[in-house]
Amino acid sequence: MKVEVSDAQIQTVAEQVQVHKFGGSSLADAYSYRRVARIVTEYAGASDLVVVSAAGDTTNRILAILDAKKSGDADGDYGVAEVLLKQLERYQQGLIKELLSGTHQQQLLTTSMVDFERWWDWLAGAEEIDNRAELLSYGELWSARLLAALLKQQGTLADAIDARSFLVADDAPEPFIRVAESRSGLLNRIAAHAGTRFVVTGFICADASGRSLILGRNGSDYSATLIGSLIDSKQVTIWKDVAGVYSADPRKVERVVNLPILDWREAEELARLGSPVLHPRTFQPVNRERMVIAVRSSLKVENQQTRIGLYEDAEPAGKVLTALSEVVLFRVDLRDAKLIQAFEDLELTPLISWNELQQQHAYYAYHQNHLDYMERWLASVDSKQSACKLTGYAMLALVGNRIQETDEYTLFKQQTSEQALRRLALTPDNSAVVAVLEQKLDDRLLNRIHSQLFNHRRSLGVLVVGRGNIGSAWLSLFHRLRERINEQMDVRIIGVLNSTQMWLDYNGLDIADWQDSFARLARPYEMSQLIPELPNAPYDELVMLDLTDATPVAQLYPSFFANGLHIISANKRAGASHESQYNEIRTIQQEYQREWYYNTTVGAGLPLNYALSDLRNSGDRIQSISGIFSGTMSWLFENFNADVKFSDLVREAKAQGLSEPDPREDLSCQDIIRKLLILAREIGLQLDWKDIDVDSLLPDYLADIPLDEFMQRLPELDNAMQDLYLDAQKNGQVPRLLASFAVQDNEKVRARVGIEYIPAGDMLANLIPGENIFVIYTDWYHEMPLVISGPGAGKEVTAGGIQSDLNQLLSRLADHR
Ligand code: ADP
Ligand code: ASP
Ligand code: MG
Repeated sequence: MKVEVSDAQIQTVAEQVQVHKFGGSSLADAYSYRRVARIVTEYAGASDLVVVSAAGDTTNRILAILDAKKSGDADGDYGVAEVLLKQLERYQQGLIKELLSGTHQQQLLTTSMVDFERWWDWLAGAEEIDNRAELLSYGELWSARLLAALLKQQGTLADAIDARSFLVADDAPEPFIRVAESRSGLLNRIAAHAGTRFVVTGFICADASGRSLILGRNGSDYSATLIGSLIDSKQVTIWKDVAGVYSADPRKVERVVNLPILDWREAEELARLGSPVLHPRTFQPVNRERMVIAVRSSLKVENQQTRIGLYEDAEPAGKVLTALSEVVLFRVDLRDAKLIQAFEDLELTPLISWNELQQQHAYYAYHQNHLDYMERWLASVDSKQSACKLTGYAMLALVGNRIQETDEYTLFKQQTSEQALRRLALTPDNSAVVAVLEQKLDDRLLNRIHSQLFNHRRSLGVLVVGRGNIGSAWLSLFHRLRERINEQMDVRIIGVLNSTQMWLDYNGLDIADWQDSFARLARPYEMSQLIPELPNAPYDELVMLDLTDATPVAQLYPSFFANGLHIISANKRAGASHESQYNEIRTIQQEYQREWYYNTTVGAGLPLNYALSDLRNSGDRIQSISGIFSGTMSWLFENFNADVKFSDLVREAKAQGLSEPDPREDLSCQDIIRKLLILAREIGLQLDWKDIDVDSLLPDYLADIPLDEFMQRLPELDNAMQDLYLDAQKNGQVPRLLASFAVQDNEKVRARVGIEYIPAGDMLANLIPGENIFVIYTDWYHEMPLVISGPGAGKEVTAGGIQSDLNQLLSRLADHR
């Protein structure tokens, strides 16, 4: 039925309806289909049109079947074709079974079986289908039907539309669309159904007699803008597996930069130069004054996007580096005016063309994919003797309006001149510079040139080991501060690891929902295998944040240093390791000139390290440091008195997460010894475990029993603790667990951890439970000490301390340029 379409009708649709297009990679499996269905219901309007490609690599599979059938026709063996068809059938019906249930599933399976019966008949020769386009059309038909059924099953009003029912074209290498007819066909189909999400097949259309035609490989982008133009839509969103257009192909190049906006000319030029991100015809039907194309990621919708529109006035800049690894040159004798004219008139424009007058040659460079077309065309041209085909070339191009005015252009010229450059030229409208190279292109070269053009700032890759309390708090802090942190250097988190799983991406992780992403994307790994790989990460500098409490991680510090990483640790184990091991870590650190910060290991976020190093740098000498270094001990003793059982306090501390999971770590004073060692070593003293005089609160006979049993037997500590309290009380004192070290005349260090009696009025006896205190005597502060106190634990202050270490590292690295 033919309808007349009024302007008012188009206007109404145009105001309301947008188009969303999902490519094959967004529909590769059941999980992706569900994600797309969610996007359609959450991000699309109720009457929006959805255009889909064939699921995953269905089109390639179909082409492979067609090829295998052809071979079968030649040699009578259809085995390969049968296997491939079986696989396709299983893939398509597998999707239906996984996604649908009940009658939805039954209905679609029945339809699918009918389709495949036809395929099997065709393969067996029982039915002739001589139009390849008709067979190719099935890919898109299946995905449109399946997505519509899935939406319906989820309770959304939806329906599938076969584009061949309205999109009419005349057959040509690039089908010529009959716009008016197609528009009325489409409106006729959708106008009466406002509120229904229609899922339309991309890639296909039909001629006036209904015969299937295709719009060219990857043609669904074009279908989407075409359909958008038919209804005069304001926006077409192309959902990809990438969050927009980047400064280069993110699958090949590391540390690419996302482009928030791109002008029509730039996008068109990029597509023309063979970048797969958008099909060259995508822009043809667009009303550039009205429409915007948004390119965004269906994998992670909250990510950024690229908006393609009228942005001619934007400051000129080199924006996208694009490459073709195989390019064919046609060399033509300039005296062959007829052939030259034929090349000039050819609709398929060359990537670039130029003349070499001395040799009387003109050159036309084409994408390898166009070779077939070009050869067929040449065969049809009269005088072709003077044309010569040359292979073994590659192309690199830089796209951006007014490219010649940009710094990137100068850099591009410089970089390509160091290669086997055959020709460098600007495209006629100055929106790209193209280099034809007489050499192979590999990703390494592409990465190198890209980094010269776009990564001017020095970069730091951060590997975060440990995703517990501190790890989580620091990741949130980093996310919040990321802009400020990035002012100094390009800082990106390249990995988040726990002991068995890693989420790694050298491009930099989007940590907005890192917990969710970690759950989805983390994979098992071996630290010992990972470390030697890390130098491949494309950063000027790398740092590992050890936010664990794990000895195995601390043992790997030498290996991290030797592979070029700096280290920031909240983990005390390395700083407090036995002298020989500690010295080894320091030696390797110095040999490889790496930085190591661990200021949060003592006093968490308290500015202890700053005070100490400032005093020392100004000429003071530290004589002694004493105090309460453990928040757990501070809490236990500040709450302890004659009326309270010590065992009850330990239980409560454990229940509140104030102690280690096994409180014996605290009671045996291990934690405090570590802090003491770190502090002493920090001010240049040589101290080892054996040098520290320790009074543990944990009797030996309770040290090795299971934790449960220990918790039950806790009251066995009570009598001794009670005696201690009463003993101190006799002289108006209270017991406290103190750590101290003092430098004696001959540079010997006396260090002790244990109970001491403190006058009840002393500041050490009157802390807020949990508070740390460091009492520092120096040459200058000898009558009255310098005292630093405050919370010495807690995830926020510790995360802040880690950030402070990172800031220090950044300033240090910036100085080292
Ligand atoms: P779909 O078929 O799903 O629409 P394609 O796979 O055809 O998508 O195109 C998207 C791919 O284009 C990306 O996965 C990416 O590898 C590639 N690509 C090449 N150059 C760029 C670029 N400059 N920016 C973004 N993606 C690019
Ligand atoms: N399915 C078609 C192809 O693979 C069209 C598209 O994906 O855009 O070429
Ligand atoms: Mg594609």
